[in-house]
Amino acid sequence: MGQSIAFQKADQLKKKPEPGQLGFGKHFTDYMFEMDYTLDEGWHDARIIPYGPILLDPAAMIFHYGQEVFEGLKAYRAEDGRILLFRPDKNLERLNHSNERMDIPAIDESLVLEGIKRLINIEKDWVPALPGQSLYIRPFIIGTEPFLGVHPSGEYKLIVILSPVGSYFGDKINPVKIYVEDDFVRAVRGGVGFAKTAGNYAGSLKAQSKAEELGFDQVLWLDGVERKYIEEVGSMNIFFKIHGEVWTPELNGSILPGVTRDSVIRLLKHWDIKVKERKISVKKLFKKAEKGELEEVFGTGTAAVISPVGFLKWEDRVIKVGNGRVGALAEKLYDTLTGIQTGRIKDKFGWTQEVSPDPEPVAE
Ligand SMILES: *Cc1c(COP(=O)(O)O)cnc(C)c1O
Repeated sequence: MGQSIAFQKADQLKKKPEPGQLGFGKHFTDYMFEMDYTLDEGWHDARIIPYGPILLDPAAMIFHYGQEVFEGLKAYRAEDGRILLFRPDKNLERLNHSNERMDIPAIDESLVLEGIKRLINIEKDWVPALPGQSLYIRPFIIGTEPFLGVHPSGEYKLIVILSPVGSYFGDKINPVKIYVEDDFVRAVRGGVGFAKTAGNYAGSLKAQSKAEELGFDQVLWLDGVERKYIEEVGSMNIFFKIHGEVWTPELNGSILPGVTRDSVIRLLKHWDIKVKERKISVKKLFKKAEKGELEEVFGTGTAAVISPVGFLKWEDRVIKVGNGRVGALAEKLYDTLTGIQTGRIKDKFGWTQEVSPDPEPVAE
């Protein structure tokens, strides 16, 4: 049944980074998972091989037209030593939604999940154990056919790399400062905003630099047509606690449907907190804030989990949220989600999957 996963051993293993100095996305493990696609064979040659550079033809289509999709998820070290993945099925399902939009052939989600689990099992010593640390998993697919015609590639490569990462916040959660971008836009309905594809991020860098120059951490995007409605932050979805209710922009085709967003909505409903997925105009939001009804603002995403927002700037108006301190709801969500992710809190939702300590032997 299915395909087997080959394994090629590395001659030499790397020296692991100091546990206290991981940062984000700077260190990579000894191995990677790889698979190729051709029109004749479909997806084939699933294999775990030593991490290293890949050789591509300069005419490979990824370099010219950016046909690419990616994912981001994490493996966590539980206190009892087990390694847990958080809702990996949702990430692989989303990878296929992105594939569909970018006209990339669908992957076998269960085979790739199996490949990820075997890879992590081989790399288990790379899963860090300090609070807030995890092993970040980055699957991606690129069009590799050497061809300059504007046409979907006939060849692809799927690669999964692993990076041990530190707590996004260091020791303490610090609220971030957000700049509401009212000139550049990220995505429009009918475009590729809901897909995790490279171009969305390439197009956002200029606005991110501008926000940083002005002393802000991140950009909050407005809708691409009217620039009136709130969409999301660079790599996070956004939530507002207003007068006891929680509002978040509805999924409208131009917003990335975050796994953390979905998990937060489910937790809030479970706690009987009213959640509204709706259109949120920035004007109305600032009005609510001026009336003192905006109680908390936070972003959600795999990297930071929950990222409280302390300041929002839009045109010449600035709001300071909750006196610049972390809100109680953001903190409870952070503690609950990270608790479930690390096995500290009972997983009532069936969100975690263990990377088996003793998998099937890897095919040679
Ligand atoms: C990945 C991403 C998110 C967050 O998604 P998660 O699945 O929660 O990590 C939100 N917005 C954008 C633009 C993203 O790329």
